Amino acid sequence: MTTFASRFSRHDAAASPPRNKRKRDNDITDAPSSKRQAFAQIEPLDSASSHDARIDGIDSDPTSATTSRLHPQNLAILHQLYILLEVDTHRGFDQFTARYTEAQLLDVIERSFREPVLILLEGTDFTNKQALLDIGGDVKYKGPGLYMDVLTDDNAAEWFKLYGGQAERVKVRTDYHKKPSVLKKNTALHYQLLRKPGRNYDYVLVAALPENEPVDTQLLDVLEMYTGLVFQMLPSKTLTKYLPSGSVVRQPERGCMVANPLNQHHDDEAARRASCQLRDSTDPEIRAHYKDACDYLRLVEYRPTMEAMRQKSKKKDLFRPATNEFERVVHIRCNTCKADVSIKQDPLPIFDKDTGNYLIRQQSCFNCPVAGAKKGDRRQFKSTMFYPIDGRPTMSMSWLGKHTKTPRSTNQYEDNGRWKAPTVVKDE
Ligand SMILES: [Zn+2]
Repeated sequence: MTTFASRFSRHDAAASPPRNKRKRDNDITDAPSSKRQAFAQIEPLDSASSHDARIDGIDSDPTSATTSRLHPQNLAILHQLYILLEVDTHRGFDQFTARYTEAQLLDVIERSFREPVLILLEGTDFTNKQALLDIGGDVKYKGPGLYMDVLTDDNAAEWFKLYGGQAERVKVRTDYHKKPSVLKKNTALHYQLLRKPGRNYDYVLVAALPENEPVDTQLLDVLEMYTGLVFQMLPSKTLTKYLPSGSVVRQPERGCMVANPLNQHHDDEAARRASCQLRDSTDPEIRAHYKDACDYLRLVEYRPTMEAMRQKSKKKDLFRPATNEFERVVHIRCNTCKADVSIKQDPLPIFDKDTGNYLIRQQSCFNCPVAGAKKGDRRQFKSTMFYPIDGRPTMSMSWLGKHTKTPRSTNQYEDNGRWKAPTVVKDE
């Protein structure tokens, strides 16, 4: 099969000068005894990356600096990413590096990234909002490519955020992002930021890959990851993990991408968990947005244990899991303190098979400490009954199998109408 890289190249790989030491030919790639493969097998990921970036890095290689227009720092980022991809057997990016040498990948970047972007990549200063807006370009492009959303605020001239994405048909994706219903309802961070009054979005086209050619989804993932790294659009934890050692995460943080692009075709759970990293953002607006989602995800981790315990329950034939979206999303509150801070989403709601009533259960409430308990004690917090806050019909576990008629609805909270649903993480 002809790879995209080879069709995309103006000249063949053998004729072009080597851009760096890690460039290799296809025959080396296929040879199991090659240095590259030995390297992948022996070196652990972390030490391999930092070690290699320092000693073998593009910075120290005169040929790459003279043949590419990209700033050495941006080449070093690409080099570091490539090294990590080579040993990424888990997500299969080692196969990507078997199809594309690092030099070919750089070639694709230099050919597909649009001129205003390449001009920016000749330097390392991405703090000029206007220069980012001026990338412009046709986001109605119907082919595969990368786009960026530059979020701005009418009420704060210095504020801007960057969101990057990829699409096999850029137009379809950017149209989707701009749909009023999506802007209004989607709970993802990118939209959440846009919902504040005075906020604007401006989509720009970062890269356009040839139309009417088969799309290499791994290539798109890698290119999206690369732009996420150079423009620092990813959470700081992801940046720290993938940027060459010694790189600085710029402040204020500009990124509002959540999921690692390398996960999007491989690991949905990892993509979801990534959102928790934003708890550590230096931006209070982003931190607040993610607190609820993180609490929920933490509870989700206990799901397998909870499910196993339920299988042992004598009453397991009397209740059932959620069967629709309404049942799946239950926000509950501690009935002892009744405090809003105790509100959380039930990670695994269950219902009476007969009536469909939500089964209330005891949970520990971090707002109800046990008197005299010290931090870290097993019983630091009281186990209290949690009720749904939306007033849906409930039933206690002890009623299971005993009732003869539907118990009355437990609509005990007078402020139900005022309460707003906490944000829930969704992949974009
Ligand atoms: Zn409580």
